Amino acid sequence: MTDLSGITAVVTGGNSGIGRAMAIGMARAGADVALWARDTARSASVVGELRALGVRALAVGCDVTDENAVSDAMERTVAELGPLGCLVANAGVTDGAPITEMSLDRWHRVLRTNLDGAFLSTREAARRFVAQGSGGSLVIVSSTVSRYGGAGLAAYATSKTGLLGLGRTLAVELARHRVRCNMLLPGWTRTPMTEPLRADERFLAATTSRTPVRRWGDDADFHDVAAFLADPALVFHTGNEVVVDGGYTVY
Ligand code: NDP
Repeated sequence: MTDLSGITAVVTGGNSGIGRAMAIGMARAGADVALWARDTARSASVVGELRALGVRALAVGCDVTDENAVSDAMERTVAELGPLGCLVANAGVTDGAPITEMSLDRWHRVLRTNLDGAFLSTREAARRFVAQGSGGSLVIVSSTVSRYGGAGLAAYATSKTGLLGLGRTLAVELARHRVRCNMLLPGWTRTPMTEPLRADERFLAATTSRTPVRRWGDDADFHDVAAFLADPALVFHTGNEVVVDGGYTVY
C-alpha cells in the first residue's frame, strides 16, 4: 500500500471526474490535497470528502490558463498545506467538431486549457521542487486519443498528444533535480465530460464491445494510479506512459 503521509499533492481539475477520483486515492494513501479548479462550490464538496478521510484538504479557486492565478494558487497551497510533493496536471476540456466547422476560437480554447494550463501548472510545480531541493512527482493527464485518431477531435487529440511531448521533456530536464514526470492516458471513462458521448447508445455499445474488459472506466479505476505515481519511493519511474483503458488501445 502506497504511503503518502506528509506529502502535499495538488490536483488541477480535482473537483470532478478523474481528478476527484485521483484526489480521493491520494488522500486515502495519506496525502494532504489541494484541488485547483474554477468552480469552488463543487470543490468544497470534494474537500469535505477528503477531510472525512482524515487528511487536510483545500479548495483553491484557480483558472489554470491564468498565469497569476496559478502562481497565487501555489503560494496558498504551500502556505496552508506545506512543501509540495506532487502535482497532477489533470484539468481539461474537450470540444469536438469536424475540422471544416471548427472555429479558431474553439480550437484555442481547448489548446489553452489543456496545453497552456498544463504548462503553467507544471512550470509552477517545477519551480517549487527546484527551490525546495526536495525532488517531487509530476503527473500529466493525457489521453489514449494521443495514440489514435478520432473524427471531430482535432483540437483535443492535438492537445493530448502535445502533452506527451511536455511530459517526456520534463522527465528528461528535471531528473537531475530528482523530479519525476509521468503521463497518465485514460481511455473511455464515465465522467461529466463524457456524458454527452454516453447518451449516444450506439456509440456507448460500440466502444464497450471494442474494449477487452467490456466496460468503460469508472472512478474506482483511478483511485490508486496517481497515488502510485506520486510515491517518492518510485525513484526510477519517470517518463512513463501509464494507460488505463481496459485494453482498448491494444485490441
Ligand atoms: P470533467 O469534465 O469531469 O473534469 C474536468 C475538470 O477540469 C473539472 O474539475 C474542471 O473544473 C477542470 N477545469 C476545466 N477547465 C479548467 C480551467 N481553465 N482551470 C481549472 N480547472 C479547469 O472531465 P474528466 O474527469 O473526464 O477529465 C479529466 C482529465 O482526464 C481531462 O484532462 C481529460 O481530457 C482527461 N481524459 C478524460 C477521459 C474520459 O473518458 N473522461 C479520457 C481521457 C482523458 P472547473 O470547471 O471547476 O474549473
